[in-house]
Order: sequence, then C-alpha cells, then structure tokens
Amino acid sequence: MTGNIGKHTGPDRVVVIGAGMVGLSTAWYLQERGVETVVLDRSGVAAGSSWGNAGWISPGLSIPLAEPGILRYGIKALLDKDSPLYVPFKFDPKLWRFMLGFARRCTARTWRRTMASYVPVNRMAIDAYDELAAGGVQSPTHEAPIMAAFRKAVDSRALVKEIEQIREAGLDLETESIDGAALRTAVPIVAPEVEMAVKISGQRYINPGEYADSLASAVQDRGGQLNTGAAVRTIRHAGDGFVVELFGGEPVSGDAVVLATGAWLPELARQYGVKVPMVAGRGYSFSVPVAQTVPGPVYFPHERMACTPLGDRLRVAGTMEFRDVDAPLDLGRVESIVRAGRPLLTGVDWDDRHDVWVGGRPVTVDSLPLVGATRTPGIYTAGGHGMWGISLGPLTGKLLAEQIVTGVTPDPLRPFDPLR
Ligand SMILES: Cc1cc2nc3c(=O)[nH]c(=O)nc-3n(C[C@H](O)[C@H](O)[C@H](O)COP(=O)(O)OP(=O)(O)OC[C@H]3O[C@@H](n4cnc5c(N)ncnc54)[C@H](O)[C@@H]3O)c2cc1C
Repeated sequence: MTGNIGKHTGPDRVVVIGAGMVGLSTAWYLQERGVETVVLDRSGVAAGSSWGNAGWISPGLSIPLAEPGILRYGIKALLDKDSPLYVPFKFDPKLWRFMLGFARRCTARTWRRTMASYVPVNRMAIDAYDELAAGGVQSPTHEAPIMAAFRKAVDSRALVKEIEQIREAGLDLETESIDGAALRTAVPIVAPEVEMAVKISGQRYINPGEYADSLASAVQDRGGQLNTGAAVRTIRHAGDGFVVELFGGEPVSGDAVVLATGAWLPELARQYGVKVPMVAGRGYSFSVPVAQTVPGPVYFPHERMACTPLGDRLRVAGTMEFRDVDAPLDLGRVESIVRAGRPLLTGVDWDDRHDVWVGGRPVTVDSLPLVGATRTPGIYTAGGHGMWGISLGPLTGKLLAEQIVTGVTPDPLRPFDPLR
C-alpha cells in the first residue's frame, strides 16, 4: 500500500469518473501521493464545462452566486428574452424547488457565511496551479489583471460594494478604479462609450481546453490510465473495493471511486446520500478575431459578459441558462451575447464566430461545492463548483487526495461536505 500516513492505510488504486478540470486534478494529486489512478470519461477530456469556459483563475472573485443583488436582477431578467439569465417558464418541479431554495439563500447574512467558507480555499487556489506547473503540466497560466468595465460609471457601484464585502470577509484583493482613457490604453479594443473600469490584480487565466489536455497528458505520463468513451452505468461493491460498470466495455476496478462528473453529478451521487440540490447553469461561448492584441481578461459585469484572449482570438462567454444539461445549444442565446457585445468592443469581427459552445456549470442550491466522502466508505464526490471550477479545480484535487489517502478531512473542505 502506498500513501500511508499515521495509522490510516490509503487506497492503492482509485477510479476517477469525469475527465474535467476537477477529476483530472484529483487524479494528478492522488498520483503525487503514490496512488495508481484510472480516469474514465464517457466522451473525452474536458467534454463538459471544462472546455469552453472563460478560463479565469480568479480566486479574488470566487464568491457565492446567491446574493441579494442577483435575486432582484433575476426577477427583472425573467421578463427579458435577451437577458443573460434565463429560467424557462415551464412546469419543472425540480427546477422550481431549486430556484426557491436558491432564492431563500439570497440574503446578506447567508452570503457572508458562505463567503467565509470560500476564503481559505481562494487563498490557496493559485498555489495549486504553480504546483501543477512545477510537477510537469506544460500548458501555461498567464498573469493579468481582470478589467471589469462599465459603460456607465454608476453601474460599477455594485461591484465596488461587493469588493468591499470580499475584503471584509478576509480576502486580500488589489483593485483600482481607472477611467475610460486609461482602460483603452491598457486594452485598446474597449469601445469609447465605456466610461471606466475596476482593475482587479493578482488573477490569472488559461486556455482551459488546452490546459485540460496538458493535465491529462501529465496524468498519463505519470502512469495513470485514461479511458475515454467509458460511460459509467453503476458502481458495485466487490471484495474490499469497487467495480465500475460501463455502458459497453470492460468494467474497471478500484479500491476507491471519485465521482467528478460536473453537472451530471447527481445522477451517480444521489444513491450515496448526496442530496444537495444541483442544476446545470448553462453558459455559452464562442471565439472571434480581434484587430489588436488583448492583454488579459475583460469583464462587463452589467452585461455579464466575460472576454478572454485565446491566441489571436478572443473568447466571449456569458449567460446563465437553467435548462437541462443535455438540451441542445440555443443559437438565440449566442445572438443575445453578440448584441450585448457589439457596442462594448471595437475591431471585433462578430460574424466570424468559431467554437460556438454551451456547457453546464454545476450549480448547487447553497453555492458551495460538494467535495468529500459520501455515505458509502470509499466513494467520494468532487464537484459542484458552479462558476468557479477552473479557479478551484486543482486545489480541490489536492485537498481531496489528502482526505482519500489520510482519511482525515482537511479543514478547508469541511464546509463542502457532500452529505450536509
Ligand atoms: C460559460 C462559462 C464560463 C465559465 N468561466 C469560468 C471561469 O472563468 N473560471 C472558473 O473558475 N470557472 C468557470 N466556469 C465554471 C467551470 O467551467 C466549471 O465549474 C468547471 O469546468 C467544472 O469542472 P468539472 O470537472 O467539475 O466538470 P466538467 O468539466 O463538466 O466534467 C465532467 C465530466 O464528467 C463526464 N461524465 C459525466 N457523466 C459521466 C458518466 N456517467 N460516465 C463517465 N463520464 C461522465 C463528462 O463527460 C465530463 O467530461 C465557467 C463555466 C461556463 C459554462
């Protein structure tokens, strides 16, 4: 047995289901502790929301989704078909139960309590990326401030207040308000109508698809197995361990199993006592060519649009659509993002869109991830990070690997207990 710490005997071989940022990070950190890993994914690497997201490693902004402002915003948004927030008006008891539970938590008090659970992990999130880099993951992380830009300066008030609250919660966040001219000097493609920006320093960004491929290669180079086209049907006990049964293909055995299946997590996890409601908060993205280099992420909070440089193109991402995770891509949502984006940026060819994409953020009712042991000893969950699975994925893998191998729950994971 490897990974023995104290009297606990860790597993020899762990099966990780899901080759997104969270599953791959968990596999990598398990390997750091000497555990043999097999990663299974029914499609491929980053086949879920880990591909077309905005790629921000922005622990300074990794905060609870449920807050009083989003509730007011949500009620207005329901009546606007172009709104970045979309909730279908159809009879769906599961979704509406989720919505009511979510709305109940949109209070300042709950936000503060939930934020306190984020602070310790946010502080460590970037270091985990540096560990991956030092350990051979080759895809780079780029340091750059996030420019949160506003067409009307008055609209920045909510963000400025939110930043104060993040600081009050104990997170260091270096920010500076800059006028439109200074913003355009830094990011020339921002349109002249944009009045100002809040510059948020100390964050990073990645090309998420490329990064996930690189992480998957690192896991394989270290002896890990990666089986794609391996759709998991069920998990059953066998001797001291488990056998993971697939829809087609040979079953895979392991001493422990990690469920890291993103927005599909409830499908496998519910039977192990994980009952926290979760839905897919679907987001869209595409890339467009830009006339001038964009030095780093640009965020338009009022329009809820996130832009990230990807080589010589710009990825534009937005929308929170509460629909079935496997529903088809709705081109109308893409058009809404384009309409919102046109007046904000110059030198962008909005019609030359590539990689139009939709992916489901795994959004929990209480805005907290689900990371840790389930009711069945040896079966763990790693997921439910909502808007922040890229920022927090590697650290999640690190902390969960520690828990699996030592049998002791690291303190920062306690609020993420999947059985809460
Ligand atoms: C538009 C958009 C922008 C975003 N921007 C950011 C950002 O800038 N920064 C940030 O931190 N986060 C961002 N996010 C959130 C982030 O993308 C997610 O939180 C994160 O990718 C979740 O990773 P995951 O590994 O948990 O899940 P996923 O990446 O969804 O991976 C789950 C995997 O499980 C597999 N799977 C599911 N069921 C099975 C099964 N039964 N058998 C086998 N395999 C299965 C799927 O094929 C999939 O590959 C964004 C999300 C969206 C949609």
